[in-house]
Amino acid sequence: MDKVLNFIDGKATEATTGAFTEDVDPATDEVWVEVAKGGREDADRAVDAARDAFPDWRDVDPSRRGRLLNELAGRFRDRLDEFAEWETRDNGKTLREAKGDLDYAASTLEYYAGLADKIQGDQIPVPGDRLDYTRKEPLGVTAHLAPWNYPLQLLIRSLAPALAAGNTAVCKPASWTPVTALKFAELADEVLPSGVVNAVAGPGGEVGDALVTHGDVELVALTGSVETGKHVMEAASGSLTDVTLELGGKCPNIVFPDATTKFALKGAQYGAFLNCGQMCWAGSRLFVHDEIHDEFVDRLADNVEQTSVGPGTEEGVHMGPLVHRDHREDVLEYVEQGLDDAELVTGGEVPRDEGAFLEPTIFDDVPDDSPLATDEIFGPVLSVFSWSDVDELIERANATDYGLYAGLWTNDLTTAHDVAHRIEAGMVSINEYPVTFPMTPFVGWKESGHGGQLQGIGAIDNFVRTKNVSVRLG
Ligand code: NAD
Repeated sequence: MDKVLNFIDGKATEATTGAFTEDVDPATDEVWVEVAKGGREDADRAVDAARDAFPDWRDVDPSRRGRLLNELAGRFRDRLDEFAEWETRDNGKTLREAKGDLDYAASTLEYYAGLADKIQGDQIPVPGDRLDYTRKEPLGVTAHLAPWNYPLQLLIRSLAPALAAGNTAVCKPASWTPVTALKFAELADEVLPSGVVNAVAGPGGEVGDALVTHGDVELVALTGSVETGKHVMEAASGSLTDVTLELGGKCPNIVFPDATTKFALKGAQYGAFLNCGQMCWAGSRLFVHDEIHDEFVDRLADNVEQTSVGPGTEEGVHMGPLVHRDHREDVLEYVEQGLDDAELVTGGEVPRDEGAFLEPTIFDDVPDDSPLATDEIFGPVLSVFSWSDVDELIERANATDYGLYAGLWTNDLTTAHDVAHRIEAGMVSINEYPVTFPMTPFVGWKESGHGGQLQGIGAIDNFVRTKNVSVRLG
């Protein structure tokens, strides 16, 4: 594959400017493919195509829509290995992780395929001789702005419910990881009517902004940073366009003294270093009870030091590079800060010259006001804190503008539920980290999200509007 084009109205399409972006493999620093670099005009053309395709797609029988989405999921599964390889070349993650992400994406499509004919309104008892009912109607054109950490999985997370509800779509992948979104739009066209799924790559400030401010886009689904979320919400307000925002996190992972240590150790490690730590729901603040702190941190460091860091395509590698050298520079600034503020337990080094690699890194005794405790670092850097009093712990865990996810490790039922209720986060997991399913809500509180959940039945509400119909019978 030399070049990947945008996909608009059923056709692979060069950008109107004819420009291409060089797409770099973060494991080798080599350009592995060139990608059409779209701009405002390309975004407008994609919205036109999605708007024209909407009336027919809306009117497809819901059960047939579901069958078509299942057919798409099947074809995607048939090509999952190929898509996984592209994801690894673009993002750096291991092939094993990429396959897991895309299997999850296929399951998400299947889940919403099953819901397509279960989106229904109510019949409302009203005074007099009348029939009153509600309809749940699709919105029209939806725009999907995806991040680079789970490029296709998180695109499909909002795309699948949008399509199931009868909307059409324009997808905008992140600039570092555009390939799988463009190829998925091409695959979708094998099954769905042309124009239902379009995809345009290009800078967020151009293609993304053109979609957010386009009067014909009815809803923008963004997964990205808090900064972009605020910007998108403000820009969308000009045309009162709906937004649903899934944003960043700085999640507490809390170990109680009675926890089953071997499981908690695993959860602390996966929670911090899966996907090279580039996760919104990374358990990047590890709170370990005083009584077990020293031994727990020693054992965690021993385990983490067994991590094999290397190209995601190689067998036996546990952790690939970060997504890009520029991003590694940002993460390394936090490592420098950590050397001043806290105690380096392990890692912190760049293990090889080529690529965007960084060792998994743990800092202990991190002060609560250090940037390591407050900022979303979005890399393989774990900050450890010790605690002794539960009330104080909850106050510290909640002392953040984020509110995405939290982990608790305890075998005491009362403690587990009490703390789960008092944590300010949209998701809490007990004795496992991290975990989610297509059928469970993915939802951020505080600055971690806005506008309703993704995943689960409730996500459909983002992609329909209610119409009330009142009929006088007498
Ligand atoms: P980002 O905010 O930089 O970009 C996200 C998307 O928005 C990209 O497609 C980008 O091109 C586009 N964009 C950027 N600026 C724009 C603008 N001005 N107008 C319109 N679109 C614009 O995020 P990222 O760096 O790709 O991803 C990392 C962030 O995403 C982290 O903060 C992470 O926590 C968050 N994230 C959240 C979740 C979640 O479910 N809550 C999941 C994954 C990632």
